[in-house]
Amino acid sequence: MKSAIYPGSFDPVTYGHIDIIQRAARMFDKITVCILDNKAKSSLFSVEERVKMLKLVTKDIPNVVIDTNDGLLIDYAESIDCHVSIRGLRAVTDFEYEMQIAQTNRLLSRGALDTVFLMTRLQYAYLSSSSVREIASFGGDISPCVPPEIEAIIKEKYKEAYEKRKERNNEQ
Ligand code: ADP
Repeated sequence: MKSAIYPGSFDPVTYGHIDIIQRAARMFDKITVCILDNKAKSSLFSVEERVKMLKLVTKDIPNVVIDTNDGLLIDYAESIDCHVSIRGLRAVTDFEYEMQIAQTNRLLSRGALDTVFLMTRLQYAYLSSSSVREIASFGGDISPCVPPEIEAIIKEKYKEAYEKRKERNNEQ
């Protein structure tokens, strides 16, 4: 069975990620979307919330599973006997960073983990989780970036934050 891991932060998942998942799922028998729980990186959504969102958007793709990992990707890959990591490339700016990770993973795993790059679909070339977070934080329209069910979750998150801020300001 040919399997691959698609690792990332997915904070939150966007149409760009979904496109990569759909295309990878046609190339491999099984895709494990792995949320990297990096304690050093602050995220808007908890790992549990990101699992929920990824499960929602992949519910109709039978060969996709969602998992999390808070260690090295190469160790995780070995634990599930997987030898391919999928990454998306948007622009030349992604290239240097992605190349470094891919080479490091190959080196650390002694050649056991290789990386396959998928080029972004043109309409998602400028789409990133950070831009979605920024647009949403200003109350902007994120409907071109994420599916409606994810849009609702993101809006709810910012509503909570807005209300908490308002409460704090009133207390002062
Ligand atoms: P990171 O792991 O750097 O936090 P993300 O979780 O945002 O990145 O993304 C995981 C992977 O998906 C990365 O390889 C990233 O380049 C890719 N990706 C993100 N957005 C897009 C997009 N719009 N089109 C194609 N690939 C994307």
